Amino acid sequence: PLPVVAIVGRPNVGKSTFVNRVLRRRAAVVEDTPGVTRDRVAYEAEWSGRRFTLIDTGGWARQAAGIDLRVAEQAEMGVEMADVVVLVVDAIVGATDDDEAVVRLLRRSGKPVVLVANKVDDQRFEADAAALWNLGLGEPWPVSALHGRGSGDVLDAVLDVL
Ligand code: GDP
Ligand code: MG
Repeated sequence: PLPVVAIVGRPNVGKSTFVNRVLRRRAAVVEDTPGVTRDRVAYEAEWSGRRFTLIDTGGWARQAAGIDLRVAEQAEMGVEMADVVVLVVDAIVGATDDDEAVVRLLRRSGKPVVLVANKVDDQRFEADAAALWNLGLGEPWPVSALHGRGSGDVLDAVLDVL
């Protein structure tokens, strides 16, 4: 089985946007049917010649019989399956209580975590990304999932711990 990379974080931080970004850039989708990928939650991806399964935990929660699972529950499911967890935080909003709850869960899991400081669309926002050092998960990687900025560096970091 392929190693599993789970994308976790509270709603609206840009998890799905990040997943789509990863799949669009040389991390090729193997099964690439237009209109289908949007509703899927597990994707086969590739980066630097290494294949892995990418899981969008927010999308998964939506599939659960229309029930919106709590943020922590969504994250928990993703983390259990993961070899590496990518925690996405909205760097512009900064760390919220929900983010902190996910961080505690990740710490308990002992799984390796790569921290994405998303929505850093412009260099001006890099200080907001740096503020996320406070989460205690190591280096926050500044990313704009929307524009693609920094996503390759995150994938390199993920492969480093995979
Ligand atoms: P999810 O709930 O965590 O999966 O978040 P989504 O991927 O659905 O994104 C939530 C909202 O944030 C959408 O309106 C996205 O367009 C927006 N968004 C995601 N990534 C970025 C980014 O890098 N920059 C900006 N400005 N907006 C973003
Ligand atoms: Mg989503």
